[in-house]
Amino acid sequence: MDFKDIQLDFKYLNDVATAIEFNEHIVDYYAVLLAELVENKRQVAPAAEQPSTALEAPPPPDFEDDFVLATPEQVAEFRVLQSMGYERRSTKQDERLKQILQDYENRIDRREHYEQKKMLLAHRGRYGQAVHKMDFDLNKEQKVVFRKAESMGTCNKRWYLDVYEKSGVLDFKKTNLCKDKFCNNCKRVMQATRMDRFIPEIDKFRDAKKIHLVLTSPNVERHNLKENIKQQFNAFAKLIGYLKAKKPIKGLDIHKWGYMGAVRSLEVTYKGDSYHPHLHVLLMFEDDFDIGPKTVVNAFSKKFGDVKRKFSEREILVQKIWYLLMNNERVNKKNIDSLQRGYSCMMDEFRDGDYHELFKYMTKGNGSPHPDTDAYMTYDNFKTLYYALLSVRQIQGYGVLFGIQEVEIDDRFDEVYADMVSWLRQQEGLQDGENPETVWKTVRGLIDDIGEYRVISRKRVYKYLRQLYHE
Ligand SMILES: [Zn+2]
Repeated sequence: MDFKDIQLDFKYLNDVATAIEFNEHIVDYYAVLLAELVENKRQVAPAAEQPSTALEAPPPPDFEDDFVLATPEQVAEFRVLQSMGYERRSTKQDERLKQILQDYENRIDRREHYEQKKMLLAHRGRYGQAVHKMDFDLNKEQKVVFRKAESMGTCNKRWYLDVYEKSGVLDFKKTNLCKDKFCNNCKRVMQATRMDRFIPEIDKFRDAKKIHLVLTSPNVERHNLKENIKQQFNAFAKLIGYLKAKKPIKGLDIHKWGYMGAVRSLEVTYKGDSYHPHLHVLLMFEDDFDIGPKTVVNAFSKKFGDVKRKFSEREILVQKIWYLLMNNERVNKKNIDSLQRGYSCMMDEFRDGDYHELFKYMTKGNGSPHPDTDAYMTYDNFKTLYYALLSVRQIQGYGVLFGIQEVEIDDRFDEVYADMVSWLRQQEGLQDGENPETVWKTVRGLIDDIGEYRVISRKRVYKYLRQLYHE
């Protein structure tokens, strides 16, 4: 095997490195959220304000110096603590965030705890207990938010690699991912993992007819977002019920369309305080299913006055059923017939490019500070989405696509990888039991001084072998 065939994609590395920059704003949003939560606690239980841990021990070292030497973990924590009582000290001051913090500061006077918190931070590591005590003082929700901020602040920042000097190979071992739904690194990883997991399962049904169904309903404002998502999930389960003839609609043939299974995926887009939750669905039917001729023009056909799209009778039916379900109205032929129009829903043949849409993470927006980009997410957007998407299951399989498991690691490739590593060790002159040197690098660092090295990984090796195996 040539190492060239299994090296990590440089473009991917570069993308990852770029995305990390954006996470900073989200980490700040978490910090502000925590600050708000902590203030709520103060209002509820003033007694909890006074940390009882003794902090009088030795005088704290110079704070400024401590910060300069801080690890990424400490910096992440610093950001959190900062929002609880410090002024921002970061050189990359974000005016917008400063504004938020300023507003917040105007509402409460946190000066009283300034000194205590400053000491807590300065003592971290040496007086871990004090930090632990502070952690203990937070309630469950606050702790969750605190840890999210902390782990996102360090997400994917350190890549651990085994160095094979003589062969010019770096074998990627691990990175720590925060798995947060707002994290830009993890969103990518999640999408890739899902595609790896679902597509081979879907491909098993080669002869089935695959349809991309998009189900939408009118936008909602922030207070109704969570409820609306719940309603969509319930409505979707009922729609599946009609398709699989569990509950046929009298006088209609929807249960005879040849439904086999589905994967539904939630996406929430937004603009200002207007949220647009909608479902992307891969519907799988027997091979003789047909969407039907698209001949009907209705209100959803037009864009800027022009007819952009026509619908088939079957699409119109889905539009009306979706309307009735979303409005808790009885779904029967009479109500469907008397409905002038439903909600905007579309069915098209599923194309390979749609997988990207189906498995992408549920929100766009990475906290870019530029209001004119797609990525712009305000603190209000963040907070709304944070609560609305809490414990929401974005992807769900139905029918033949129900309960798809993780891609299992192919153990038939274990040996190949083991052989390769042992060959690399031999080149280094390492004896049995001796390990190569492990280093950690940031992704940016890796890109900058990659030099003549090739970066490989076990996962990449397996992927390559899988491809060969399938060819
Ligand atoms: Zn992450």
